[in-house]
This record gives sequence, structure tokens and C-alpha cells, in this order.
Amino acid sequence: MNKQNKKIIILGSTGSVGRQTVDVARAYSVTVEGIAAYQNIHCLEEQIRLMHPRFCAVLHEEAAKDLSVRTADTDTKIVSGQEGLLQMIEASGADMAFNSIMGRAGLEPTLAAIHRGMDIALANKETLVCAGELVMQAAKENRVKILPVDSEHSAIFQCLLAGKREEVKRLILTASGGPFFGRTKDELRGISKEQALKHPTWSMGQKISIDSATMMNKGFEIIEACHLFGLSADKVDVIVHRESIIHSMVEFTDGCVMAQMGLPDMRSCIRYALFYPDRCVYQGESLDLTTLGKLTFYSPDEDTFSLLPLARRAFQTGGLLPCVLNAANEAAVDLFLHDQIEFMDIFDIVTKVVQTYPNSENPTLFEIMQADKEVRSAVKEGMLK
Ligand code: MG
Repeated sequence: MNKQNKKIIILGSTGSVGRQTVDVARAYSVTVEGIAAYQNIHCLEEQIRLMHPRFCAVLHEEAAKDLSVRTADTDTKIVSGQEGLLQMIEASGADMAFNSIMGRAGLEPTLAAIHRGMDIALANKETLVCAGELVMQAAKENRVKILPVDSEHSAIFQCLLAGKREEVKRLILTASGGPFFGRTKDELRGISKEQALKHPTWSMGQKISIDSATMMNKGFEIIEACHLFGLSADKVDVIVHRESIIHSMVEFTDGCVMAQMGLPDMRSCIRYALFYPDRCVYQGESLDLTTLGKLTFYSPDEDTFSLLPLARRAFQTGGLLPCVLNAANEAAVDLFLHDQIEFMDIFDIVTKVVQTYPNSENPTLFEIMQADKEVRSAVKEGMLK
């Protein structure tokens, strides 16, 4: 497809990755047929006036009404609720859906867009963590591509072009280590929200910043990589690379290692997914290795950041556990962001839930949703006692 003609929809357009996708779409005059967000109508109104999408879906019903009034002078049709979002996906006729919705809420829109035959640019890793088998199967059946927007997976996707799938020895995911790299468990007690939200290299939303601070994010990325590239978890290694210049690597069977490098800027992953299989012309800043001088690498401390090995085990066990892991984490992070629990409680809650939840094999979408709901309320109720 000619890159100028590509039509897209942006789900989660007011979040960090969503806004950066809007920047890229505008910079390259890509047609945006629809945008969707939970309730940030100020940002949505601005995006409607900038890009004139045919549709805008607002999950929050009251916010949708407000936005309809505010944008009555435009041609954009405002739809509301989950139903409105699914209608928009159905009616948009887009070639590609950028999904940067936060958390498990991104799952149904992803599946709907796949069934509508759209390629998916996926920034919502929870979709694959919760229901990776179902999503990858649906993509295969509907012959759509899943293009990763997560920097590590975009890097691996690009490195894999250097060899055949059966020639892959292992993937090496790089991790910045987050704001608490080098600290012990004791030193993590009493960490404040402000400290946890300060990511050293990437500018991201609140939830993923906390996930980076606990390294849960890297655990999710192991699961995401296994689904995207059809590998077992023992073929995915993690190394800490503080500078976030190498975005990940692939080692092939002959011992050659391919690395993808660049400045830490999500827009570069967004451009790659948007224009794949072509490469666009980008005239911004180039990577200058001489100003960096050196790149450093360390082993992750899996004893302190125990959610990383927990995620690997949850994927290896399979069934409902990855979904349970994600739901417990989403609920615990939410409690932490609302000052209801301590930073270290996130580790304890998630570990306890994963260890005690009754697992079942080959869950259906309905069972996944049920488990997700159950775990969230259990975590919240646990806090009320
Ligand atoms: Mg990442």
C-alpha cells in the first residue's frame, strides 16, 4: 500500500503514546479516520480540530455528551461507551489500528479491529499478556499483521529480518532498570509515588512508569515477545542497559548478534509500525555515539525485582496465570497511585495472587474476562479489610 494513502484509527489517542502517534500522523499527513479515549475531552477536542477524524469514541458517556456539544460545529461524529468504540472500529474502514489504550481494556478493541481486517500497531502489551494465544490466533485467521510499537519488540522485529525464524538462538530484551536500579529490597521500602514515577530515559504514562520501577513491565515484555515471535520464555533473556540506546537484540544460531539502536523516542517505533514495510524519511536528530562515549550492561537483580521471574513462570505455566498476573498488577498499581498501599506492597500482592489463584488451561475469552474481574475486586477488597 502506498504510504500516503494509509488510513488509521488511534485508540487511546490522549495518552502518552497516543499523543505521539498523533504527532507522527500529522507530520506525515496520514489520514486519521477515528480517535478514541476514555474521557479527556479537552485533548480530544484539540485532536478533532487538528485532524478532522470522521469518528471520535469517548468511553465515558457523560464526557461524550459534553464533547458532542463542544464540537457541534465540526463534521466529526462522536460515539460513546464500549459499544460506540466497537461501532467506530466497524465503520471506520481504516487499514490500521494503533492501539495505545492502557491496560486490559485494550483487549476487546484489538480483537474487534483484527476481525475487521485491520493491521494492528500494538502499544498495549496487556492485550498480549492477558490473551496472547487468542489474539495471535485471530490475527492469523484474519491475515492481519501485528506490528509492535513497544521499543524492545519493534527492535526485535527489525533484527529478525536478518535471519530465518529457525535460526534464532535467543532474544535479548534490554531494560533501562528503571529509577531504582542497584537498590536492594530494604532500600525500596517507603518509596514515594513521585520517586517511582521518575523514569530515567523514557517519557511515558503513569501506569507504565510504575511498571518500569517494579520491572513488572519487563516481565510483561518477556510474555509479549514470546507471543509475538512464537518463542518459549527460556529463549528470551533480559539485560539492563541504562542508556536505552540499544532497544533489544537477537542472537542467531551462528553466534551473530543483531542490535537495533536509536535515541529513546517512542515516535521512532511509531514511524516504523506506520510505514512498515517501508522506511520513512525522518529529518530529526541522529544518534551520535561519540557524545555518549560508552554503553553499559548489567544482569538484572531478579531477587529484588522478583516480578520479572514471576512473569516468566506465569507464562510458562500458562492458562489464566498471565491474565491473573496482569489484573493483580493493574489493581495494585492503581492502589499505589491512589496512595492506598506502599510501593513494596505491589510485589507482595501480585506474587500472592499469582501463587494462590486456581488456574485453568486453555481459557476462553469469557473465562479470561471473568478472572480479570475477580482478581481486580479481590485486590481492592483485600485493601478494605
Ligand atoms: Mg518497552
